[in-house]
Amino acid sequence: DTNELTARTRGQIRHSRYQERLRGNYHCSVSMAVTDSLTGLYNRRYMNHQLSLWMKRSLMGGTPLSVVAVDIDYFKKVNDLHGHEAGDFVLKEFAERLLANVRPKDIVCRPGGEEFLVIMPETNGDLACSAAERIRQSVARHPFETDHRGSLLLDITVSAGVATFKGDEDTAADMLKRADDALYRAKTAGRNQVYSIAA
Ligand code: GH3
Ligand code: MG
Ligand code: MG
Repeated sequence: DTNELTARTRGQIRHSRYQERLRGNYHCSVSMAVTDSLTGLYNRRYMNHQLSLWMKRSLMGGTPLSVVAVDIDYFKKVNDLHGHEAGDFVLKEFAERLLANVRPKDIVCRPGGEEFLVIMPETNGDLACSAAERIRQSVARHPFETDHRGSLLLDITVSAGVATFKGDEDTAADMLKRADDALYRAKTAGRNQVYSIAA
């Protein structure tokens, strides 16, 4: 019966579209739960989750694990002198440069404000330092636009702190604290540099 066939086919198509929409919504919600809306990078929650996971994998597989904390130098000045929108523009551009200078398996996060953290699986302290140095150079080498017209260019620099997983007794919080301490050392030593507290 042609009529019945047509009706059933229509029903199936409607059902399939509904399922697709559900899947799309689900995907969208999941991605909103783990990323930051300004830059699209992973948020603090996802960062903590991934760091714990990779610490376990590192213990089981005997592979190294490092993190690099990156903070924009004198970023408050960018906002104060050129406005919050210009600041946001710089943050977005920085996120892109970060992504362009790490490997696909590295997990690039924006835990908050103008602080960024890259989780580097299967990476020892030396390699993480080279990566941090590459990131630092990618920022310092070319000025940043502050709007879509490119009407104002700013010289931006970043400081970075590197920490490596020490194994068994080490915790995610301790590791992040060491990366932060290293970052602080890079700041006090004059900024636009990488400091490492290698294990
Ligand atoms: P330092 O070299 O020591 O890192 O100095 P700083 O000015 O970068 O550091 P400070 O912590 O004093 O200032 C950080 C500034 O970042 C202050 C805050 O307004 C700004 N900021 C944080 N989140 C955002 C954001 O999402 N957008 C913009 N435009 N600014 C932000
Ligand atoms: Mg800063
Ligand atoms: Mg800061």
